[in-house]
Amino acid sequence: MAHATTIIDLARLSLSHGEGRRLELPVRLEPLELAGQSYAISTESVPVRLDVSRPSGGYAFRLRFPLRIEGPCMRCLEGAALETEVDAREVAQDNTDDDELRSPYVDDDQLDLGRWAHDVAVLAIPTRFLCRADCAGLCPVCGESLNDADPAEHEHDSGPDPRWAKLKELELE
Ligand SMILES: [Zn+2]
Ligand SMILES: [Zn+2]
Repeated sequence: MAHATTIIDLARLSLSHGEGRRLELPVRLEPLELAGQSYAISTESVPVRLDVSRPSGGYAFRLRFPLRIEGPCMRCLEGAALETEVDAREVAQDNTDDDELRSPYVDDDQLDLGRWAHDVAVLAIPTRFLCRADCAGLCPVCGESLNDADPAEHEHDSGPDPRWAKLKELELE
């Protein structure tokens, strides 16, 4: 797979101090990975809106794009999708020892927009990626999805009746 790279040459924008510029461009994203799980984005590239401004002694950036993430539900493993809007900021001061003011995506007036967009897309993946908020998950005994099964009908001869577990939960509350 081709490495997705989008570099913005900041010097070519020739912004004076105090000036700003908005760029709109498609950016290809590499596949997203979080905790060993791969997630797909539904389009080949995302429509990025990048605001570049030039406060004294550096650059400030704002990055925005819509994103649709697809992957397996963490509970039932069925396909799930999430639509979100990414909004991130970054500053890059020219001469500073303060790490907060140095951007890992800016080097020598080159903004690595592809890598930044990829990183914020990964951050947009929720830690609980679910097909729906109340996904019932898989039966711990047979592995069948409990979303499709009627909980009252879904029982196993061996092992505790799941309804007793439910009653126990209620007693604890
Ligand atoms: Zn699910
Ligand atoms: Zn079962």
